[in-house]
Amino acid sequence: MHELSIAKSLVELACEHAKIEGAHKVTRISVRLGTESVVMRSLYFCFNSATDGTLCEGAELDIEEIPLSAYCPRCDDAKLLLSRTSFRCPDCGTPTPRILTGREMQLVSLNFQYPDDETVLPPPTNNSTTISGEHHEL
Ligand SMILES: [Zn+2]
Repeated sequence: MHELSIAKSLVELACEHAKIEGAHKVTRISVRLGTESVVMRSLYFCFNSATDGTLCEGAELDIEEIPLSAYCPRCDDAKLLLSRTSFRCPDCGTPTPRILTGREMQLVSLNFQYPDDETVLPPPTNNSTTISGEHHEL
């Protein structure tokens, strides 16, 4: 299952980052995904099972979908492909084997929750007060 392996690698990556950051929970995972690379609905579904028992459990998955586009040599331009199965220019019908976008998978950002999120910040260690702005010279 393609989507499950993508979901798992996303979760693994996010958990790794969380550990490095010292976070105890991942609350949100933002990714950029080409519509050609996955079936979005299956990915959401697989994501939920992939996060079970990990630091990502309960995390929100935020996907920015990148549409499939290809270069049409006849129109000499980038064209959005209307179908995942036919790689042809929607305007002139020329085959468009050169895919430009729609196959990327990129981790954009992660939101973490830290164990000490609830605690009050420690008092400032610097107790000395500096008064500035007034300077008298005799
Ligand atoms: Zn064309």
